[in-house]
Amino acid sequence: MTTADDLFSVAGQSVLISGGSRGIGRAIAEGFAERGARVIISSRNPETLGQAAEEMRQAGLSVESVVCDVSSEEEITQAVEQVLGTAGHIDTLVNVAGVNRRKRAETVTTEDYDFIMDTNLRGAFLLSRAVGRHMIERGSGAQINIQSLNTWMPLKGVLPYAMSKFGMQGMTRALALEWGPRGVRVNSLSPGFILTDLTRKLWSDKTMQEWNAANAPLGRLGVPDDMVGTAIFLASRASAFMTGQTLYVDGGFSSGWNWPIPLD
Ligand code: NAP
Repeated sequence: MTTADDLFSVAGQSVLISGGSRGIGRAIAEGFAERGARVIISSRNPETLGQAAEEMRQAGLSVESVVCDVSSEEEITQAVEQVLGTAGHIDTLVNVAGVNRRKRAETVTTEDYDFIMDTNLRGAFLLSRAVGRHMIERGSGAQINIQSLNTWMPLKGVLPYAMSKFGMQGMTRALALEWGPRGVRVNSLSPGFILTDLTRKLWSDKTMQEWNAANAPLGRLGVPDDMVGTAIFLASRASAFMTGQTLYVDGGFSSGWNWPIPLD
């Protein structure tokens, strides 16, 4: 018999999280570690990464770190080898690493495009593939891709970012098709508007705050901790019959359009 606790348990899992040093990735890392998972966080900057891991360890959590820029195939190969060398296996991969640059479409440079796509889409694919090969060999594993509201409907001014997140949606579903029969589940979590380093400047603007207050069904911006429950769900047996899906954790934004129609 499965108890409620077993159903959502990630205790004992080995979990690799790209972009785990800050923001959404860090909250998810802490969420897994607090529930007994062995967590390995990765990102580009050794100082912030090491510091994040150290802070989590000081809080009594089982967290290791491995420096890895997901835009480098070589670094991904080395990082995955290193993680497998120390942890032995990976139960769950969370593809969080992501970047953005807000610009008008006609001013997006080729370098902007490559920078965003190489991290958000190519990087996520390379990491999924490297870890996926290992998961297929074991015949089990879960992968969680962090998408965006841009997968539901693109926002103005973030063309390459929206393209990368649409691509991630395609990757999630295509991998689910191929890897489902091999025991590997692939799903996505799409955060709404979450206050992090990536978005802090944007949401310090009063007009933006007013727009959110007027349009967000749950009436507030999200915080990184809002992502934890869904990530745990997607990694646990509670979602054992789910693959290729995208869950929006967005305060209700994707439920529909708000419009200024007068109502009694
Ligand atoms: P954030 O606070 O800027 O954190 C980004 C994380 O990714 C950091 O750990 C960063 O560490 C790492 N990173 C960036 N480029 C990388 C690379 N090439 N290789 C490895 N790691 C890299 O951003 P966030 O807001 O938490 O966003 C995390 C994810 O959620 C992104 O995929 C983003 O698109 C998505 N998202 C965010 C929001 C939001 O409102 N915040 C909404 C929807 C989706 P280093 O700088 O040290 O590499």
